[in-house]
Amino acid sequence: MKFNYKIKKVAFIGMGLINSSLARDLKLNNFYLTSSAYSRRKSTVCKIKKLKLVDTTDNKIENVINDADLIIVGIPVAAYEEVFKKICSYIKPGAIITDVGSVKKEVINKVIKFIPKNVDFVPGHPIAGTENSGPESGFSGLFKEGWCILTPNKKLNKKSIKVIKSMWELVGMKVDVMDAKYHDEVLAITSHIPHIIAYSIVGTVTNLQTTIKKEVIKYAASGFRDFTRIAASDPVMWRDIILYNRKSILKMLNLFKKDLSNLENAIKKDDGKFLLNLFTKTRKIRKDIIK
Ligand code: NAP
Repeated sequence: MKFNYKIKKVAFIGMGLINSSLARDLKLNNFYLTSSAYSRRKSTVCKIKKLKLVDTTDNKIENVINDADLIIVGIPVAAYEEVFKKICSYIKPGAIITDVGSVKKEVINKVIKFIPKNVDFVPGHPIAGTENSGPESGFSGLFKEGWCILTPNKKLNKKSIKVIKSMWELVGMKVDVMDAKYHDEVLAITSHIPHIIAYSIVGTVTNLQTTIKKEVIKYAASGFRDFTRIAASDPVMWRDIILYNRKSILKMLNLFKKDLSNLENAIKKDDGKFLLNLFTKTRKIRKDIIK
């Protein structure tokens, strides 16, 4: 796919799993002339240098932002307010700023006050990832065939939205544009609640007596094993996602608890018909997703 916009310099703010994967793919596709990356800790800055992901790296935002046409923020959402404030005091007029955060509405509300009038903010969320963190965990191809959701303000310059849409398409994603609140509700049920369930069930095993716990770990087949993969996701990132999407999560959690209690009642009443109906319906969903 061809990219029709001229990006001279990209600045990556944060270089973990997501931004480092994006940097790898954008470099392969000659998306920009030069690139720069900020990371908070010196140890991460060293890793980025060793991996040769970008042209320059620094733990000072001002040195990275300097002259960038496009800024891509990839840090935990709880750090946004402080970091956006800093970015926006150094950003050049006409630049575009985007992000990869998993929660949108509350985060946008927190940072929008810092965005200068002559800068376009196109919030984004690539739905792709693994349970690993850090620049060394990133890889080229992470975004292939996935969906990226953009949640820009309705009044935003269409050209800036096109630039960000084309960037994600360049690395293999399909792109949808939607309202930030709607994004958060959809993601609450498709991603955040499944993580909560995984954290909770793996937590339950952790609380079991040592002997039972040993057996559970020894005989863990795909069911529990799959939960442990999800529950191994970055604790800081997931704490932030859950607290920043609290409203939508609590709404969806209520629905889930009702359904779980219906299932519990069916088991109590020996209601095989209920179980069979539910399991047949859910099996069909899996088939539809794979298709
Ligand atoms: P990650 O691998 O843990 O990397 C996080 C980056 O943010 C590192 O460069 C880290 O710097 C920096 N950082 C951490 N705390 C910071 C703070 N308080 N202030 C400034 N910088 C800080 O993270 P990631 O998995 O790429 O996630 C980044 C964003 O992508 C998150 O908002 C997440 O919601 C979103 N996202 C993640 C996934 C996923 O599956 N992982 C999928 C889609 C979207 P140091 O290492 O120098 O501390």
